[in-house]
Amino acid sequence: MSLFDRAELAPADPILGLTEAFNADARPEKVNLGVGVYLGEDGKLPLMASVREAEERLVAQRKPKSYLGIDGMPAFREAVRGLIFGTEAQVLADARVATVQSLGGTGALKVGADLLHQLDPEATVLISDPSWENHRALFTRAGFKVEAYRYYDPEAKGIDFDGLLEDLRAAEPGTIVVLHACCHNPTGYDLSLEQWDQIVAVLDERGLVPFLDMAYQGFGFGIAEDGAVVAKFVASGQDFLLSTSYSKSFSLYGERIGSLSVVLGSADSAKRVLSQLKITIRTNYSNPPTLGAALVATVLTDPDLRASWETELGGMRSRIKELRQVLVDGLAARGIQDMGFIAGQLGMFSYSGLTKDQMVALRTEHAVYGLDSGRMCVAALNTGNLDRVAGAIASVRS
Ligand code: PLP
Repeated sequence: MSLFDRAELAPADPILGLTEAFNADARPEKVNLGVGVYLGEDGKLPLMASVREAEERLVAQRKPKSYLGIDGMPAFREAVRGLIFGTEAQVLADARVATVQSLGGTGALKVGADLLHQLDPEATVLISDPSWENHRALFTRAGFKVEAYRYYDPEAKGIDFDGLLEDLRAAEPGTIVVLHACCHNPTGYDLSLEQWDQIVAVLDERGLVPFLDMAYQGFGFGIAEDGAVVAKFVASGQDFLLSTSYSKSFSLYGERIGSLSVVLGSADSAKRVLSQLKITIRTNYSNPPTLGAALVATVLTDPDLRASWETELGGMRSRIKELRQVLVDGLAARGIQDMGFIAGQLGMFSYSGLTKDQMVALRTEHAVYGLDSGRMCVAALNTGNLDRVAGAIASVRS
């Protein structure tokens, strides 16, 4: 009897499992709208020109590959703090923010979750209903009880804001509340700035612990617009955590680059929290990798590369909006008039409102792969596959 006989076969990850099924599908016309990846018009992952140029410069420098500090590359941390909080932000000048480089957005969430669990193992974590699949698993694995607050209203095709506020008001003080800063995954429905004001106030009043997850800055309305909620939390004076990811906005998925910031009431708290974050990192993977951080730092700090990156990101954002509209038009042309909401959703995803059976039919009959929840990645559409997807959706709807 081996110790490892105790290991049960875990179910396949729902999204990565779907990709495996997609890869095994022999139909040449297949379309993968399952994973959260932005693909270009050619159906391929783009290498952004700004990132390519930064990489060429780095290669030309031929620097040796030393270890980074536990909290990551200083130039990266400085650059992303400017991007997130604003270079002139008083909270940075006051040294009230503890920031570490992380292994993508997921790594930031996990390091943050581990810190929180160490400080309050009994706390409950609230995530949105629905949320990115990994939120529940990640916080559960970190040792928390995970529950959900109301978010999506399928009837209204929007946010159940009253339900959301009610659930937050009912939460025990100390409850950790995970919020999507922009481009909500999977629904594509974001809170308005006025609604955020109310959420920020309720979290503060109730003594809840906000954990903002910002994986898609720049994909909604713009870099500053999508990050506006961060300034609202800073202005409220409450402590909060913020994870960011540069997987999507720099198309650097495989480099695993992100950051975790904890905003606190004093420089002393920030110092203590940073020391604890460093222990978590040191005992898990010691220190983060170099390349992604160097690329992001180079692009953000060089004025030409920065301008080029902002233009490229803006191009991705507006192209997704166009794809949404073309899909809506294609559906309308096929007699499906009630899916116009897709055009107004934000970010890479669309909650299509299709049922599980319809999503299965899309897969089996039309080789169009989306999640059973009805989530589709509109950022994987292109002029070559849009017509087929619109036709397939119309067919499973009829
Ligand atoms: N948070 C949300 C809401 C996401 O959608 C994702 C990625 O899909 C992440 C975090 C994780 O980002 P990363 O791939 O950088 O780990």
